[in-house]
Amino acid sequence: MALVNIHFQNLQNNYLFADIAKKVNAFKVMHPKADVISLGIGDVTQPLCPAVIEAMHKAVDEMATAEGFRGYGPEQGYDFLREAILKNDFLPRGIHLDIDEVFINDGAKSDTGNFQELLHWDNFIGVTDPIYPVYIDSNVMIGRCGTYRDDRWTNVRYLPTTAENGFVPELPKGRPVDVIYLCYPNNPTGTVITKQELRKWVNYALKNDALILYDAAYQAYIRDPEIPRSIYEIRGARKCAVEFHSYSKTAGFTGIRCGYTIVPKDVSVATFEGERIPLNQLWLRRQCTKFNGTSYVSQRAAEAIYSPEGKQQIKATIDYYMDNAARMLATLRSLGYECYGGENAPYIWMRTPDGMSSWSFFEALLYGANVVCTPGVGFGPSGEGYVRFTAFGTHERTNEALERIKVWNK
Ligand SMILES: *Cc1c(COP(=O)(O)O)cnc(C)c1O
Repeated sequence: MALVNIHFQNLQNNYLFADIAKKVNAFKVMHPKADVISLGIGDVTQPLCPAVIEAMHKAVDEMATAEGFRGYGPEQGYDFLREAILKNDFLPRGIHLDIDEVFINDGAKSDTGNFQELLHWDNFIGVTDPIYPVYIDSNVMIGRCGTYRDDRWTNVRYLPTTAENGFVPELPKGRPVDVIYLCYPNNPTGTVITKQELRKWVNYALKNDALILYDAAYQAYIRDPEIPRSIYEIRGARKCAVEFHSYSKTAGFTGIRCGYTIVPKDVSVATFEGERIPLNQLWLRRQCTKFNGTSYVSQRAAEAIYSPEGKQQIKATIDYYMDNAARMLATLRSLGYECYGGENAPYIWMRTPDGMSSWSFFEALLYGANVVCTPGVGFGPSGEGYVRFTAFGTHERTNEALERIKVWNK
């Protein structure tokens, strides 16, 4: 008899974006003529830049020849891309990493979800709240989170980040956490962490022998030069942190699939006997068994964003989205809404007016202005009373949505 992994049955069914789609479809059935604008989705809208397209065409043509054909590549990625990453993303910030510390992935979702496999099932995890749902759900699947009660998992330490604490999570009190997920710039709040605050987390991890899993998927959106773009800008981080990067938001790769994970050789975890096991070797072993590499064409595409033209072109697209963010912030604030984020991230996190719940505001906005936002509570209990707007739309549609919100507010 084949038995099910019961932990999958513990997963909460309500997948946020499916619920949103259901409500939007119900609205459309009742109002077939309405033109609904979504400021809710987390996907990009602008096409790939010319440097990337050119590199992909070239890579495809190579594959069409006997000499240029590539079959299985190295599981950890091609050196041409790993070298470009070291040279462009880390060396200019004074971070010296070894090429073997870079693992090319097929997106940060897979690796942030899979990395927990290397850790004993009863590690105690901590997450900032609200948060990208992948971190918790991937831990639920292996039975690490306990039971779900009152909108929370019993074996997860939730660290609230709200307007009340300035979106700066406090270090865990009481039982220390073993594994901490941090995401900066943050999805969904769009807020960032300063070097001083991040240093507290690195020191906490070093002191408690904890592991930090740091998601830097939005680092390309940071404009403030004082804000760290990598946790390795903090001394000691290479002993306690693994960092995930993605080209999805950096260069519109949501449909291409490529990113990378940094696993420094100095990061290790313990056995019950007190032996230290380096995660770098373990991750390589795991990847060689379960992953056959990101496609050659995708890796050539990623390499192209580090060319002088590529850099300029992806910056233009990021500026395009950040223009949206600036206009969204200005308009929403002028209407009296309390907004956060949007300055170093493509997300605006808005407090709902008059203590409305996230879902009531979502419905009011959908029916009143035909604009879709994302209910904050879908990202965790501390997201209640907030909604998220994304800056990934086109200028035209974003402006139109803002005009409608203005009219609706009168
Ligand atoms: C979009 C996003 C990612 C990137 O996922 P990919 O698999 O690389 O597309 C990772 N983390 C967060 C928090 C995100 O919002």
